[in-house]
Amino acid sequence: MDKILIIEDSRAQAEYLKSILATDYEVAICLTGEEGFRMAKSEAFSLIFLDIIMPDVDGFTLLKNLQEAILTKYTPVILVSGLADVQHEEKGLTLGAVDYITKPFSPVIVRARANIHIKLHHYQMQFMQQAMVDQLTGVANRRRYEDDSVMKWREAVRLGLSFSVCIFDIDKFKVYNDTFGHPAGDKVIASVAKTASSFLQRSTDFFGRYGGEEFVAIMIGNDARSAFEFMQTVRQAVEDLRIPHDPSVSQWVTMSIGGVTLIPKDSDSYDRYLKIADSMLYNAKRGGRNMVVWSDSGRQQWREK
Ligand code: GH3
Ligand code: MG
Ligand code: MG
Ligand code: MG
Repeated sequence: MDKILIIEDSRAQAEYLKSILATDYEVAICLTGEEGFRMAKSEAFSLIFLDIIMPDVDGFTLLKNLQEAILTKYTPVILVSGLADVQHEEKGLTLGAVDYITKPFSPVIVRARANIHIKLHHYQMQFMQQAMVDQLTGVANRRRYEDDSVMKWREAVRLGLSFSVCIFDIDKFKVYNDTFGHPAGDKVIASVAKTASSFLQRSTDFFGRYGGEEFVAIMIGNDARSAFEFMQTVRQAVEDLRIPHDPSVSQWVTMSIGGVTLIPKDSDSYDRYLKIADSMLYNAKRGGRNMVVWSDSGRQQWREK
């Protein structure tokens, strides 16, 4: 059941609104703006009804805060007010509220508006999900990677945790396509993605398609050696799929991995470390492929073979 949050300082008004919506939705009430903001961030609400005039914080300010917070920026907000004046409505809608209702309200209209905005919210979330997923493999796509890598990096900086990033690249894949054809190549990319991503399922992990036959993974909390060893398992699992390659290249399809682990500080740049991961990948290719090469921030290196 979808959840609706009502932020409204008058308990009587809030309870009345709740009684209108409670047959179709799970409804929570907060009587202050501050509590409402906290609540909105702590659970996934499909819609928020927000009173404009409250003693602690006005609805317009709260609306702005909700839209700036990552966890609430996509939650639709309907402003509720006793003020039937056009300026308030204009201001609210300009700030990004999806709708505006004035007291006293008609239960039928309130319910109808809630229904339509929740439906639109679902469409939007579905659309956004699809826009972030790579069609061929079903893993996160490049766009999602751009967003998530920044968030994970910031989180590691903030919490002082170790951060690992690595790039996977399928070996001699051009030859594979030339020998077996592009559609067969596509299937290999999908199989490799499925296998590799199955190892990166923690909520702090990220795995995505970087482009072509390349993937990227991020892990939080591992030291360099354990990240290096873990990625050997992933590399081995892909080899163990035993997908025949062109015999002039190798018996099975394999991949090379280059990675780096560090505890990032505010002054560090993510791009610089991504470049280090890329140069570790280059070392793995030069070293004969089907191997993992890893580095830490002090440039100690681990290589598999
Ligand atoms: P290396 O071991 O050095 O990585 O050799 P490689 O042939 O894999 O490297 P290169 O980057 O030269 O070629 C990558 C090839 O991957 C080129 C292209 O044919 C293939 N490729 C990229 N994207 C796709 C895709 O979406 N589907 C298929 N089937 N092939 C792709
Ligand atoms: Mg009020
Ligand atoms: Mg490549
Ligand atoms: Mg390649």
